[in-house]
Amino acid sequence: MRSADVVVLGAGVMGASVAWHLARRGVKVLVLDRGAGPGSGSTARATGGFRAQYATHINVRLSLLARARLESFAEDTGVDPGYAPHGYLWLAGNERELAALASARQVQHEAGLPESTAVTCDEIQRLVPALAGDGIVGGTFCPTDGFLLPLRILEGYLGAAARMGTEVRWGVEVSGLELANGRVTAALTVEGRVACGAAVNALGPWAGGLKAETGFELPVAPLRRQVAATVPTRVLPPETPMTIFVGDGFHFRVRDGRVLLLWATPGVPGRPFDTRVDPGWLSQVTARAHARVPVLRSVPIDPGASWAGLYEMSPDKHAILGPTPGVPNLYLVNGSSGHGVMHAPALGQLLAEILCDGHATTLDTTPLAPERFAAGRLNAVSELL
Ligand SMILES: Cc1cc2nc3c(=O)[nH]c(=O)nc-3n(C[C@H](O)[C@H](O)[C@H](O)COP(=O)(O)OP(=O)(O)OC[C@H]3O[C@@H](n4cnc5c(N)ncnc54)[C@H](O)[C@@H]3O)c2cc1C
Repeated sequence: MRSADVVVLGAGVMGASVAWHLARRGVKVLVLDRGAGPGSGSTARATGGFRAQYATHINVRLSLLARARLESFAEDTGVDPGYAPHGYLWLAGNERELAALASARQVQHEAGLPESTAVTCDEIQRLVPALAGDGIVGGTFCPTDGFLLPLRILEGYLGAAARMGTEVRWGVEVSGLELANGRVTAALTVEGRVACGAAVNALGPWAGGLKAETGFELPVAPLRRQVAATVPTRVLPPETPMTIFVGDGFHFRVRDGRVLLLWATPGVPGRPFDTRVDPGWLSQVTARAHARVPVLRSVPIDPGASWAGLYEMSPDKHAILGPTPGVPNLYLVNGSSGHGVMHAPALGQLLAEILCDGHATTLDTTPLAPERFAAGRLNAVSELL
């Protein structure tokens, strides 16, 4: 197998974005993935939400940069990323949740997202008339949030990178990295050694398992997320915003003529990579949906169309971006904690800047630096946003 300036490990949306942004800078890139083709990892399991409503400046800024990249995506890659700004609507059930939304809104406005606004119960009812409404005291809405098409973004980046000379090899399992004098010299694969000038870990939920004597423990853990899909239905319009209950995180959206229901649970004890859908969970999430969106009572769940996948969790639910401490040519773009599709266009650009220029020039990425864990500089974790 050939050598490359940069070997990107993993061809999910993150690896694809990194590859395209590097190729655009003239870097010779080789992407390796053990899957048979695009979408073997979490990217194909994502529901396709896009939002800039976060509770930290860095996450809002990542989303705004990603949104700008999405707006030029078709021009850049020849592919429509399907950005559909139908909005994200957050619903509060008490004053504490309203206050959390208000303080997040302040962060959003400071970070350059003026369009997120408080909404009254009447406005909420106008935005999503199907809501039962009881127990809701107010909320927040952002009209520029909405949806995108995860696989289109992945394939758009990979296709455009390939046209600029990037090579993508499928069916190649990476077993580890070879290091010499504190630097990566090769990726070790089932097909042999691939010499490289630098490597990028873009292995999604599997990132923490990469074998390399770096002395740095990458804190990324998989977490199962389940999605219940109804049978095809028209009870909710396709432009329904992503609608999220702050209290327990239950949320729903309409996609491909079905309603998707989500509600976070801790995953399968002792089997972190298990992605089976739990029938008990389907009943629980359905009960929540029936209480809150009564029109769904007449729409059965389709267990065959429901699915689960893995989030790639970091300890503070923020991405890990930059060179590995102690191994300056092993770059990390990991731990997006369930926001990886929407942030990939931004993180790919920023990683290319770090790799080519020595530091990110578009945004200050210090809050995402891998050193933050050892230094005790974790980002504030909000359970709500
Ligand atoms: C149910 C669900 C809903 C989600 N909804 C959203 C959403 O609405 N919006 C959003 O932004 N994000 C969402 N996410 C999160 C999103 O899917 C991830 O953040 C994103 O896909 C991560 O991309 P990635 O490229 O890092 O990982 P992946 O897409 O998992 O790619 C990693 C790649 O690495 C490869 N690989 C792994 N190990 C090896 C190895 N040893 N050798 C070679 N190749 C290897 C895999 O085959 C895979 O292709 C959701 C996730 C789930 C599970």
